[in-house]
This record gives sequence, structure tokens and C-alpha cells, in this order.
Amino acid sequence: MKTPVYLDNQATTPLDPRVLEVMMPYFTEKFGNPHSATHKYGWEGEAALDIAREQVASVIAANADEIIFTSGATEANNMAIKGVMQVWAQKKPEIITLNTEHKCVLASARACERYGAKVTVIPVEANGLLDVKKLEAAISDKTALVSVMAVNNEIGVIQPLKEIGEIVKAAGAIFHTDAAQAFGKIPIDVRDMNVDLLSISGHKIYGPKGVGALYKRNHHSVALSRFMDGGAQEREQRAGTQAPALVAGLGKAAAIASNEMLQENGRLYAMMQRFKTQIKSGLNNIIVNGDEDQRIPGNLNISFPDVDNDRLLSNIRDLALSSGSACASGTSDPSHVLEAIKGPDMHDKNEASIRLGIGRFTSDEEIDFAANRIIRAVNSLRA
Ligand SMILES: *Cc1c(COP(=O)(O)O)cnc(C)c1O
Repeated sequence: MKTPVYLDNQATTPLDPRVLEVMMPYFTEKFGNPHSATHKYGWEGEAALDIAREQVASVIAANADEIIFTSGATEANNMAIKGVMQVWAQKKPEIITLNTEHKCVLASARACERYGAKVTVIPVEANGLLDVKKLEAAISDKTALVSVMAVNNEIGVIQPLKEIGEIVKAAGAIFHTDAAQAFGKIPIDVRDMNVDLLSISGHKIYGPKGVGALYKRNHHSVALSRFMDGGAQEREQRAGTQAPALVAGLGKAAAIASNEMLQENGRLYAMMQRFKTQIKSGLNNIIVNGDEDQRIPGNLNISFPDVDNDRLLSNIRDLALSSGSACASGTSDPSHVLEAIKGPDMHDKNEASIRLGIGRFTSDEEIDFAANRIIRAVNSLRA
């Protein structure tokens, strides 16, 4: 077993060797520019994009021509939110989103205020889920866009996408979901769920970093302003030469995730239960953050009352995991997601929180090691 044990699979996942194998030729002999239409080198690059577009689309029951490749989910979120609001801000200025969204969604929404947008942030319930009645009450004919994430990156809860989609559709607004933590991990059907825009990240699904995609429904009502000016790549939505190696890797990672979703979720669920059972028998007074049922199996976020956060982290240095979100760790910035579910007085409490991200390459041995380390550290800090 290698230490520190990697338990931060919501921050990023290691590349699956099967993905690397598909990527390699595009770094060497298949180096053509996919936009070169007059020779074999270009066609090889274009063929890689075509295959990956099919692979990514089929995971969410979309059409291949509805997939726009980007540099990641951050770019896809920016493209979706700013793209819609640049078109709509004058007529329908409102964006509705949640207080537990990824920082790049919240920051993109705020950035639209400069085109005249008005941002409504709905607070989630104590279990981390949106009460759809609050969305129903907030949405109006002034709402252009509703952006609600599919799965939360810190606490793993799954938002009720289908119910949200119905409400958004009935109001005539556009529904965007940041699915970086959901794509390939839970079943998603964009037509059934009335999703218009959906963001994907390669490195959260054992694919490469620096690539992602935006699904954009083919319908005249879902118009985006151009995100990058230049060439006509990606249906004129995103100029710039695509990276066939990265895109091929994203496609392969998507295909594996989709084919193996059922078995993988079964394995992750068993490991999460194994960890929970040990923690609950070795420690009293722990809090599992986020709904215990509506969640993905690879995430477990736990708080330990009467334990100092920094002291806990320094006692479990042989575990690579994060406390709150990856973006917030290493700084004294508290997690906005934990604050959203616990309330502002969480800052007055002496309470440590860790996020355990169990992944495809995690073993039972590592789970047992982690549980043991955490139990020991928490008991000794409480003593
Ligand atoms: C990781 C993540 C992102 C950012 O994705 P990148 O591909 O790294 O830009 C956005 N949203 C969520 C929920 C994420 O987990």
C-alpha cells in the first residue's frame, strides 16, 4: 500500500491506464490538426473528435452534435452561464442558482451582473438538497437561467434534476447543470430531465486534466453568445484548435464510466459502508454531512465535534484527503458548502470536517487503514 493513501477523488482522479492507451497515438504519429480537411493527418485528428463526441453524448442520451469540447468544467460553466446571460440579460435578467454551487458557477453568475443580470441564490436545506418549492416560488417570466449542480463536490448529494427540469421548462427558462461530479456516476438523460446545458470535466472521471465538455441542447431557444472568437471549431461556439489526445481520453473515460457504472457504484458503496461501520463503532458523536440517501457512493463528508480541524489534519498526514473543498483547503477559508448546511455559527464551534473521496482504485485495505488512522487521531485529540 502506497502512502499517503489517496482519498481525494472529488478533487481529481488518477488517469485510468485504458484511457492513457487511447491518448498516446495523438501525442506521436497522429499529430494532425483536426481542422485540416485536405489530408490524412487532419482526418485522423477529426476522427478522434468524432468518436469522443459520440462516446460523451451517449452517456447522457444526447446527440453527438450537441457536445462542445472545452478545457474543463470551469470553462463549460462560464460558457453556459455568461453565454445565456449575454443573450438574455436585457429581456429576462434573472439567474437562479444555489448557495452550494461550485465557486466557478457562483462567480460566473456574479460576473453577469455587469451585463445587467440579477442573481437569486436559493439556500439549500440542512441535508444539502434544494427544496423544489423554493425554486417554484422564485422562478418567474424574468428568469432566463436556472443553474443547479447535479452532484455536490463537497458533500456528494444528488439534486432532484428531473423535478427541477420540469419546473424550469414550465417557466420557459433555460436549465443548466454542473455535472462534473455526476457525469458517468449517476444515470442522466438530458431529454427526460429537461436539461438544456450540462457541464462535464475529464479529470473527475479518470480522464485527463485540461479537457471537458458542454452539452448544449439543439434548440433555437438555447442560444449562447460565442465564448472564444476565432476559427469555426466546435460549431462556431468555441474557437481554437482542439486537443485530440485529451478529447480522445475524455471520450474513452466517458465510455468506461458509463459501461462500468453499475458495478463501480456497487464497489464504492460497499467501501463507503465498510468505512462508516468502522468509524461508527470506533467513535461516538460524528456527523455525516449531506443527505445519507440522495448521494453518490464515492463521497463521505464527516464532521467530528470537539476536534480542532488543523490538528486533526496534521495527525492524519498519511491520508491524502481534503477538509471541505479542494479550493478551500490549505487556506483558512471555511467551506461555503458546510456553512450552507450548518449555518454561520459553525465557525464558533470546535469541529473538524473531512471529505473522503473513494474512487475506482481505492482498496479495502486502504479503507481500513484510513478508518483506523482517523479513529486513533480523533480519540487522542478528544482525550
Ligand atoms: C472539478 C469541478 C469543477 C471544475 O472542473 P475543471 O474541469 O477542473 O475545470 C466544476 N464543478 C464541479 C462540481 C467540480 O467538481
